[in-house]
Amino acid sequence: MILVIGAGAAGMATALSAALRGADVTLVENTASPGGTVARSLIHTLGGLYDSAGRYINYGLAAELAERLTRADPLARPRKIGKTWTLSVSPEIYRRVTEEWLASQDRIRVISNCRVARIETQAGSITGVELRRGASPFFIEPEAMVDTTGTAEAIRLIDPELVLDDSERAAAGLIFRLSGVNPEALKFPGNIDLLRRIRAAAEKGLLPDECRFVWVDRGVSDTEAYLKLSVPLGADWRNSAASAELAIAGEKILNSVLAFLKERAEFSEAEVSGRGELGVREGGRIRGEYCLTADDVRSGRKFADAACRCCWPIEYWNPRSGVELEYLPSDMYYEIPLRSLKVSNLRNVWAAGKCLSAERLAQASARVVGCCWAMGEAVGNAIASGNKEAE
Ligand SMILES: Cc1cc2nc3c(=O)[nH]c(=O)nc-3n(C[C@H](O)[C@H](O)[C@H](O)COP(=O)(O)OP(=O)(O)OC[C@H]3O[C@@H](n4cnc5c(N)ncnc54)[C@H](O)[C@@H]3O)c2cc1C
Repeated sequence: MILVIGAGAAGMATALSAALRGADVTLVENTASPGGTVARSLIHTLGGLYDSAGRYINYGLAAELAERLTRADPLARPRKIGKTWTLSVSPEIYRRVTEEWLASQDRIRVISNCRVARIETQAGSITGVELRRGASPFFIEPEAMVDTTGTAEAIRLIDPELVLDDSERAAAGLIFRLSGVNPEALKFPGNIDLLRRIRAAAEKGLLPDECRFVWVDRGVSDTEAYLKLSVPLGADWRNSAASAELAIAGEKILNSVLAFLKERAEFSEAEVSGRGELGVREGGRIRGEYCLTADDVRSGRKFADAACRCCWPIEYWNPRSGVELEYLPSDMYYEIPLRSLKVSNLRNVWAAGKCLSAERLAQASARVVGCCWAMGEAVGNAIASGNKEAE
């Protein structure tokens, strides 16, 4: 049995991929349901699925996900944003489609509201894992374990030294959905003008300072908008009281921005119709057998043990100055090696998704949703088909 910890993009893909290759999978999630950051933080533009010409960059599960989503909702469609292609889809559709996909696989057992309490290792392998659901602990002995928690929570339990936590990290985000927006409000170039006005108001002290980095984007339907707030993360962000405080601060900023927007005719009817949970872009990466570098990304490096491809720009949410984008040349892509998904010095322990082994700026490209699906698929495949070479 393969144990996958964390049912976000990478975890669902790992579980599906391993199950489709005949393995039994236990997929553990510490919240009430699968879906991860996309479903809970309200991501509506899935990146990392397409190349610069809008073709799938990875086939397999990532492409199948896009097909399933577009079949499930006629409003879900590829959308070009600047030089990149995304899939515009409602987070609720994503949640439903992925949940049904998991449920269709008999070999996958999903255990929600469950977290890892303790991991036993012996001679460079994990031998047992204690899980807790509510107050009841239980013990399992998986053949392999994959950390897809996004922030390397399971690997931390084995040895915190196996996790790289930078003192400077990308800003987190709080996303809100507004409904009742005039469809003209966010068409180019009006959308850019709106962002300028919000920033100018923040600089004049008419809006909270944090609004300098607010991002407003049109939604999946014409009458929706998504408001992204940039939230710097302190070193104590794992502490639940600290993240509750960030959420309260975010709500106050939301109210100020909403009041500001409502003064404009196009937003006069706007109401909040969705509140995302605090979304962590970067909360620790594993120390893997290979660390993907920013130079690998910039130079479009290829690897003999490629797990997947990615061409997303380096999109770093600088907590002090807002988003910084560094595009790859058109038609260039880089590969993520399987070794970046294999934890150092542990025979049967892997990771996939945004906690891959990578430099901070390389992770700022590789963390997009489509790429997390492709990483998960590669790891599920490697384990289920007994990838001795990678071990
Ligand atoms: C604010 C914000 C905006 C973003 N915008 C975009 C965008 O527009 N387009 C895009 O493509 N990407 C975007 N991203 C990036 C992308 O959403 C994430 O990087 C990606 O979804 C990460 O997938 P993952 O599977 O690695 O982790 P996650 O989706 O975070 O999944 C990890 C799962 O593990 C669970 N978990 C955590 N700890 C434990 C534990 N101890 N035990 C059990 N389960 C656990 C979590 O509850 C979660 O369900 C954004 C990210 C943020 C934060």
